[in-house]
Amino acid sequence: MTTDAAPQTRSFEADVAKLLHLMVHSVYSEKDVFLRELVSNAADACEKLRYEALQQPQLFGDDAQARITVTVDSESRRLLVEDNGIGMSESDLAEALGTIARSGTKAFMDRLGSDKEVEGNQFIGQFGVGFYSAFMVADRVDVASRCAGADTAALWSSDGLGTYTIEPIDPSEAPARGTRVTLHLKEDAGGFTQASLIERTIRDQSGHVPVPIFLKDGPD
Ligand code: ADP
Ligand code: MG
Repeated sequence: MTTDAAPQTRSFEADVAKLLHLMVHSVYSEKDVFLRELVSNAADACEKLRYEALQQPQLFGDDAQARITVTVDSESRRLLVEDNGIGMSESDLAEALGTIARSGTKAFMDRLGSDKEVEGNQFIGQFGVGFYSAFMVADRVDVASRCAGADTAALWSSDGLGTYTIEPIDPSEAPARGTRVTLHLKEDAGGFTQASLIERTIRDQSGHVPVPIFLKDGPD
């Protein structure tokens, strides 16, 4: 297949840009919520696939066992959260990771009102702020995804500063099925390049997640 189409640069919805600005400049100390959010999205994706597969069991292919894999590569300061769930197409990526249509984030923005950042920081812990919280610890986030049953894959990428790109990629660069979120960790991302902290955080925050979570230490 051809994957030489130029990446398309798109702008975030105004409210997303506002939310991202808040995340990037957050003085909110409990940055570890990002991991809870990414693991919860991965688990939701596995659950969506399980539901779809009730009607279309072939979506499972030869891999019916839901799983989430978290890989810490301290050397390259990367943290990867991968699932073998439902996956996202190019249009899913633009819809899900470029707009503010989701109820939790909308409620957060409504409470936030104008540009009251300090107040905003107090709210981060109370609302499910979702995917965008990744930008509290990362200065670039890549999302490579392949929908269940699809033979094409796409990459979403952003530095959280107003725009993102979406491009088709070779399927070999995405999971065989599902989504891989790669965080390029900031210099001041605390200890999140350490497998021990990642493990403790997952135990503390994601113990209830109904999908097995595997932790890998080192380059993927
Ligand atoms: P929420 O989970 O409350 O909907 P998020 O900001 O956490 O909000 O995620 C936004 C949307 O992005 C999700 O609703 C989902 O459609 C999509 N998404 C995020 N992560 C994944 C993933 N790992 N697999 C599939 N879809 C995902
Ligand atoms: Mg979520």
